[in-house]
Amino acid sequence: MKRRIITIVIFALVLIFTTVCHSASIVELSPHVSICRNFTNGVFIKKNGRTLVVYGDPGRNLKKVDKVLFTHNRRDVVWTGRKLVNKGAESVMPALEADSFSKADEFWTSFIKTRFHDTHQQTTKIPIMPLRVDREVSEGDTINWQNLTIKVLDTPGYTRGSVSYFVNVDDIKYGFVGDIIFGDGQLFDLYSLQDAVPDAKIGGYHGYAGRLGELISSLRKVSSQNPDILVPARGPVIKNPKIAIKRLIETLQAAYKNYLSINAGHWYFKDNYEVLAARVLEPDDKVDWMPYATTIRKKPPDWIVPIHNSRLVLSEDGAGFLIDCGSRAIIDEIIKLRDSGRLSRLEGLFITHYHNDHTNEINEFLRQFKCSVYACQDSKDILENPGAYRLPCLTSQGVPDLIALPDGHKMRWKEFNLTFYYFPGQTIYHDALLVEKDDSEKIFFIGDSFTPSGIDDYCLQNRNLLHPGMGFFYCLDFLRKMPPDYLLINQHVLEPFRYNQEQIKSMTEVLEKRRHILARLFPWDEPNYGIDERWARIYPYGQKIKPGRNVEITVKIFNHSNSSHIFTISPNVPKEFRLKPEKALINIKSRKEGEARFEIGVPDNISEKVYVLTSDIKFDKWDLRHWSEAVLEVYPE
Ligand SMILES: [Zn+2]
Repeated sequence: MKRRIITIVIFALVLIFTTVCHSASIVELSPHVSICRNFTNGVFIKKNGRTLVVYGDPGRNLKKVDKVLFTHNRRDVVWTGRKLVNKGAESVMPALEADSFSKADEFWTSFIKTRFHDTHQQTTKIPIMPLRVDREVSEGDTINWQNLTIKVLDTPGYTRGSVSYFVNVDDIKYGFVGDIIFGDGQLFDLYSLQDAVPDAKIGGYHGYAGRLGELISSLRKVSSQNPDILVPARGPVIKNPKIAIKRLIETLQAAYKNYLSINAGHWYFKDNYEVLAARVLEPDDKVDWMPYATTIRKKPPDWIVPIHNSRLVLSEDGAGFLIDCGSRAIIDEIIKLRDSGRLSRLEGLFITHYHNDHTNEINEFLRQFKCSVYACQDSKDILENPGAYRLPCLTSQGVPDLIALPDGHKMRWKEFNLTFYYFPGQTIYHDALLVEKDDSEKIFFIGDSFTPSGIDDYCLQNRNLLHPGMGFFYCLDFLRKMPPDYLLINQHVLEPFRYNQEQIKSMTEVLEKRRHILARLFPWDEPNYGIDERWARIYPYGQKIKPGRNVEITVKIFNHSNSSHIFTISPNVPKEFRLKPEKALINIKSRKEGEARFEIGVPDNISEKVYVLTSDIKFDKWDLRHWSEAVLEVYPE
């Protein structure tokens, strides 16, 4: 009987929770504090007939308020407070992020160019329109309002400069902490934490969840304030902050320890990786580093010439087949080889992946050495149209006249059998080339995907999907099935190497464990939403258009969930632009990409500048406003 009552109570609670989630309703937390919960939270503190708001008003209930307190600069949260500020409320912003509010348009105007060759890898979910900054705050400041004293703490981590606010109201100590925690010990995503770690000498591109150390310190700082209730920017109200924070820190540490243990970067930056580990893990905790590949040769066979991060395959008759060409220095070395007589001519170029350090000088190379350029089908579009994507380290130079080959395509060249493979290791668009020399070595050129210490997934923006049969699961399974006499060559590593079967199995197991840890960490129904910023994207990402013309965009969505979903997509375009249709509903099967097309009409008399489009995406319980974006440069007729 007791069990039955409990079940009914739980059912009722679930029902209340679901109702709150689906419609923006206002729930009283204490006599003077209420919360409007939509997908994001808005906190309303009312006193003496006046109102102060934290985050914003996602249900658009309020007409006039005194102040809006913003914790951080995420546009998918900030939109809820924008209208109140425009109607005259005083805006209070974290000092370190004030510019990204007030100068948002300047960022996007320059981003049309800086998005190429970008190694910082910061999330682009930042405001697209400027928002007036009335007051900048940082740790130690207090905000006095209606006899309440609101204390400000710096709590960086989820963003670089976020703050939290603490206040006693109705004898309850409230903390408003932005996105540093989601509900009962979870985090909204991990890709937002990508950043450089200067004390470990790790740059932004290599800084997987680089702000984890800051995030954990911020969480501890929040816990030491002994708040009674935390209201994060998203997710359920936290009624037991200490337990929720402890749980989140433990899950973050488990995820990071798992990540470090099989990471390719340990090969390049061994000592720095100890610093990375120490920033996040407990002092007595140690990473179980995977032993390096069991076979490591000092250098490649003589028929392979390493030239910076290119490799030249040399035939006995002097002809050459180049792999990647990212810098002028590589072309200079090839010219030297030709002048010395060692290289007679170039007969082919294979591109492992689109990153600029592998592609920047391909056009110049082709001007000097006319030869065919090969890649696999999946890489064709990004190599030809890099500007259509928002991904790390894009080159601005598309490769024309590319020969795109199907996965597994075989080619005989001189005394070599070449086989071209799709190989989604370091990034989602990535290929590999197996070169088998007659009666000699078999070399598998794997681009940047592995080093002797493990997998290269240190840039979260590269879309290393963690589904069985995709990403590194796919690559590891591929290596497992290969005959045992090949050697791997990474474009940045001189030494060819090979893992044994046990290592391949253990890396696969680590990734399986990672899936479980991340499933605990994120509130999504599938962990890939928390590591794949581009699961919803506008294609093309960047385009140029003349006034008076129409342009087409496609919103592409990868459904990571285990079941199909109906996604509702509504692009947001500047109000002078026309949009057709205004909304689209698409049903996408599990682990498939679906898309909806829209036509945008640009008026004749529009000013010539950079416009940013965003798209709202709704599915299941998620109502994601201003989620993905694209840049449109209107230029003179
Ligand atoms: Zn790369």
